[in-house]
Amino acid sequence: MVKAEGVHKSYGVAHILRGIDLEVRSGEVFCLVGPSGSGKSTFLRCINHLERIDGGRLSVDGQLVGYRQKGDKLYELKDSEVAAQRRDIGMVFQRFNLFPHMTALANVMEAPIQVKGESKAVARERAERLLDRVGLRDRMGNYPSQLSGGQQQRVAIARALAMEPKLMLFDEPTSALDPELVGDVLDVMRDLAESGMTMIVVTHEMGFAREVGDSLVFMDGGVVVESGHPRDVLTNPQHDRTKAFLSKVL
Ligand code: ATP
Ligand code: MG
Repeated sequence: MVKAEGVHKSYGVAHILRGIDLEVRSGEVFCLVGPSGSGKSTFLRCINHLERIDGGRLSVDGQLVGYRQKGDKLYELKDSEVAAQRRDIGMVFQRFNLFPHMTALANVMEAPIQVKGESKAVARERAERLLDRVGLRDRMGNYPSQLSGGQQQRVAIARALAMEPKLMLFDEPTSALDPELVGDVLDVMRDLAESGMTMIVVTHEMGFAREVGDSLVFMDGGVVVESGHPRDVLTNPQHDRTKAFLSKVL
């Protein structure tokens, strides 16, 4: 579903991603862990072309992200084509970024109506189903300010799912939450994983990675240091940098 081959990304002179190679298979929960500043968020942003890569190849579902290849030349996609690629990728951030002036229901209905031109009735029906699925059946009419952080994050997940993405990116979705609210959000993610969604999850929740993850990559300094099944990497890390990191978070 996602393939990165030698992906590089710099901000000015700061060389952040230094040749990322990885492959995320369809239907898998792919956990990305690593110290602060290692480039995890940058890599996620490259996947939906919020950042443009400087070298290597990055593809989603067999399509190059942001480019089209003809012969051995690459051509940049038009904005409308980039938008079409992004439509298939849902993203959930540490901060929930809900529209504050809209109810939970309206937040979830918004993108299908605005981006896909869907009818209100169809968008509403799906939004209600999704909010029910994330455990917020009774909260549909609430504004974000009337919801806990965990509830807001579940609305954000429902909002991303409303676009019926084929890939979901999560960037530390629980790290801004009070500890007692983390479990509900992880439960929703677990449910999503069981439904077969392909998910890339940046997280420090090693319990979640171990129980739900199919693969785990440890990144440091803009490269993949170590990867494997979460159980193997977490219980038997091979590299000193992985060991040092895990000793701090486990
Ligand atoms: P964290 O765990 O703290 O979220 P991360 O692994 O997600 O860290 P990134 O956010 O990808 O790390 O950042 C990697 C490096 O790139 C950092 O040194 C950061 O300061 C730098 N960086 C990120 N975005 C930009 C930007 N837009 N312009 C310049 N530098 C940036
Ligand atoms: Mg980050």
